[in-house]
Amino acid sequence: MAQIEKLLEYQQIDSKLLGIEQEAANSKERKEYAQAKSFLNKAAEKLDAMNAKAKELTSLLDELNVKYAEISETLNDFDNVDELVEGGAEISFYKKNVLQLIERLRAIKTEVANLSKAIKDSDTEYKNLKKKTLSVQEQYNTELASKYKAYMEEKKSEMAQINKELEKIAGGIDEEVLKKYKIKRSERIFPIICAVKDGRCSKCGTELSLKGKEEISGGKVIECDGCRRFLYKG
Ligand SMILES: [Zn+2]
Repeated sequence: MAQIEKLLEYQQIDSKLLGIEQEAANSKERKEYAQAKSFLNKAAEKLDAMNAKAKELTSLLDELNVKYAEISETLNDFDNVDELVEGGAEISFYKKNVLQLIERLRAIKTEVANLSKAIKDSDTEYKNLKKKTLSVQEQYNTELASKYKAYMEEKKSEMAQINKELEKIAGGIDEEVLKKYKIKRSERIFPIICAVKDGRCSKCGTELSLKGKEEISGGKVIECDGCRRFLYKG
């Protein structure tokens, strides 16, 4: 049998292998497994980020509460404002100060309320995401990972069967040609062997060189100058 015929036979069986590979890649088992895995990775990152943010907001809130307490205390010092006034102090000076401090307290109180709400909202969001994560993790651990593994075991045994058939045929194919075939296959070129029609590659339309035409007539395995596929006389 000529090299090219053996290669064609090899490719035909290899296409079954490719079919299984594609089926496995598009399978429900792989998709669900991959989706859960990607969700869990992203969720872990997001939860960490939310945790850091919550710490930041809480420390900001603590700072505001300290400021609030300080100003409140300062205001208490004005309890003896009557004495000060009676002692001859300028009343408008104290009044102005007190009003300013009260304004400041009001502003801090609003800030505290806004910040508290933000913390509460972010806490709710955190808890919801955590809950979802735990449920996906549980499903991943108890079901998806094992289902995918079992599915792949089955596919692997099917593929091993075909690989055995391929090995048998490979014995009759030139080593260099087979090596090139495998490289093309890994580059996701398929089919790898194409017919020549009217002196052109039937896949990409590139015309064969004179040398190429001679070689192919002589039964040599040649590559298309355009798409690098192996060519045979169709
Ligand atoms: Zn081509």
